Amino acid sequence: MRKISLLLFVLFTLAPAQAQPTKPSLVVVLVSDQMRADYLTRYGGEFQHGLKTLMTAGAWYQHAAYPYFETVTCAGHSTIGTGSLPFHHGMIANSWFNRETGKAQTCNQDDSATEVAYGAFKGASDSAKWMMRPTLAETMRKTMKSRVATMSIKARSAIGLAGHEGDFVTWLDERGAWTTSSAYAGVPAGWFSAFVQANPIDRDANKDWERTLPPDRYQYDDAAPGEAGAAGWGATFPHKLGPPGPPYLLHWLQSPFADDYLEEMAEAAVDQMHLGQDAERIDFLGVSFSSLDIVGHAYGPRSHEVQDVLVRLDATLGRLIDFLDKKVGAGKYVLALTADHGVADIPDQVPGAGRVNAPTVRATIDAAVKAALGGDGPYVIAMVGDEVYFKPGVYGRLKQDPAALRAVIDAVMNIPGVVRVITSDEIAPSAARTSKDSLVRAAALGYFPDRSGDLLVVPKENWIIAGAGTTHGSAYPYDQRVPVILYGAGIRGGIHQDAATPADIAPTFASLIDVRVPSPDGRVLKSALGK
Ligand SMILES: [Zn+2]
Repeated sequence: MRKISLLLFVLFTLAPAQAQPTKPSLVVVLVSDQMRADYLTRYGGEFQHGLKTLMTAGAWYQHAAYPYFETVTCAGHSTIGTGSLPFHHGMIANSWFNRETGKAQTCNQDDSATEVAYGAFKGASDSAKWMMRPTLAETMRKTMKSRVATMSIKARSAIGLAGHEGDFVTWLDERGAWTTSSAYAGVPAGWFSAFVQANPIDRDANKDWERTLPPDRYQYDDAAPGEAGAAGWGATFPHKLGPPGPPYLLHWLQSPFADDYLEEMAEAAVDQMHLGQDAERIDFLGVSFSSLDIVGHAYGPRSHEVQDVLVRLDATLGRLIDFLDKKVGAGKYVLALTADHGVADIPDQVPGAGRVNAPTVRATIDAAVKAALGGDGPYVIAMVGDEVYFKPGVYGRLKQDPAALRAVIDAVMNIPGVVRVITSDEIAPSAARTSKDSLVRAAALGYFPDRSGDLLVVPKENWIIAGAGTTHGSAYPYDQRVPVILYGAGIRGGIHQDAATPADIAPTFASLIDVRVPSPDGRVLKSALGK
């Protein structure tokens, strides 16, 4: 009899838990800036901690990729945050030329916002004022009183994940002070002031960045062509952080120590804001680790430096997962790991690769317009990345004279490394977003009226518009393909080969917690749900 009642007791207590998907009490979105999809397979043999846990126990979408052109930080984070694409959310690039003000601006520039710094500096600050769609985080905050904390070295990363509002949205300003904006908070958070006092960035002064593993465990060479670090750092280990001062800040930002700092900051936020620890609430934590990007631009994807950042990030994420397991509870939070874009190889290391010189592009266009339309010029008012903006009226005149426009495009096409020039008229119509021409389709998904350039200059594969190191932004797989791994409450682990994009993360998590992100471009990754 006792056995039967015990059995019934077990059945009754287990049955409801199995029938219902586990609702998380905390939604965690982790971004590793510039993490290419192939890093996990290429370098994953050395991972033992957090990255390994996610790769083995998570729902891993191995073919995830951004579908758009301008694969850069602001566009990527805003896509992850909102679940929509740049043609909807409007954050097309890290900066663009504002035709109304006649000046280039950053994606988060908000002159009506004031910096609220954990340091002396106060000036104009940043917000999501240019973001045209709400994020999952702000939707949670509005509809279910969630607490939202996001943090990164970069404003565009913390803001892209949080959106227009948030309880703790924090980044590092250009002087090296942690900061937020009056758009998010009127005063600094007391707990974080104390944290900063106990953990000044200078705490890592005079440390050396050495390889974590024995040197023979790293692939390729430590001293490869084209590698050059910040403020005097050379191609080879060790990299000395030096004494406190401006070069130290540049070195610290280009070291894995900045990732460690952000992880400790995330733990403190969970502790102090009780994220995920209130039965009445589902909270949001977003952390964007920037070191891989800052190191990757200088040292490239084959470098020992990038490999070491990954080995250390594996340990850093392991600590964060262990902490969340203890604090929030294993299986009580849901987590995504992704990246905002990938990166090209350093051209010096790839046969047939090269650099497109931006001043040459600009001068070539000016000369071609002058030849076609006459007058004195200059006709180009700005070139931001690969987007070319003409002075008011110039593009209109070119459009009315197809031969003149053709001549300008042909002149640019003659520049070594240029494969295509796309006009804004080709990508502005909504039909372009489903074009069979993959480049037109990608450019159209990244096009936003008034903000995008008049011409888009497309480099050949493995060619970049950057004078040193390497960069990203293109529609080639090395820039578009990134990890998407979901893990934890409500997620069934497994490897997936079906198509996915980082825009799928917000709608998938929204479905887990029963909120709606308005008309996302991403879709619910149903194949990951069901634990
Ligand atoms: Zn980035």
